[in-house]
Amino acid sequence: MKIEIIKCLKDNFSYLIIDEKTQIACVIDPSEAKPIINFLNKKKINLKYILNTHHHHDHVGGNRELKKKYDSCVIGFKGDKDRIPEIDILLEDNQIWKKDNFEAKIYHIPGHTKGHIAFHFFKEKKIFTGDTLFSLGCGRLFEGTYEQMFNSLKKIKQLPKDTEIYCGHEYTIQNSNFCIANDPENLKLKEKIAKIKNNLKNNLPTIPTILEDELECNIFLKANDLKTFSKLRDLKDNF
Ligand code: ZN
Ligand code: FE
Repeated sequence: MKIEIIKCLKDNFSYLIIDEKTQIACVIDPSEAKPIINFLNKKKINLKYILNTHHHHDHVGGNRELKKKYDSCVIGFKGDKDRIPEIDILLEDNQIWKKDNFEAKIYHIPGHTKGHIAFHFFKEKKIFTGDTLFSLGCGRLFEGTYEQMFNSLKKIKQLPKDTEIYCGHEYTIQNSNFCIANDPENLKLKEKIAKIKNNLKNNLPTIPTILEDELECNIFLKANDLKTFSKLRDLKDNF
């Protein structure tokens, strides 16, 4: 299974998960259709599945055009069936979604939105976290409560430490500024920031990140109680 990172809009990431044996692909959160089509046109890949982590426009903006062009199937959370354009398959919390050679466990992780989900390709140890968990940050609370977000992050924290995390935006450097301001003695964080800066300098994404790094460096994952987490979330909103 190959992952292609497709940059979209200003700072969004869409991802293609390609089964190279069958040349069948899933796309995660197509912000817009064009960059996805441009990539697929160069290869002979069939885009069969469109997977959405949540209903925000910068994650579903390409659904309609891609579905029309490739006759793909749109997959998202049951609770967001009226907000995800062109949705076909409705998912539930803890369900396993399995089609062709793709197999992912679904986690309902509300906080950023009420219906946010993550797709965990557990055999490959890769999770697509949308706008819930970013590298060195977490999503803003648009619809959910602090407690929901705290518990959603807790679910991700329990995965194997070598899980690769693919998130919805390139926010890593801004997030790192907040982490280091609040955790100035963290050596592991300093090392991670050096790597991040190097990637960006070379025009490379800072994604994927590894859960182990996030557990040690992401201040929102380091918060072990709801009160600390909530305070940090408020501080970040005004940072
Ligand atoms: Zn969002
Ligand atoms: Fe977003």
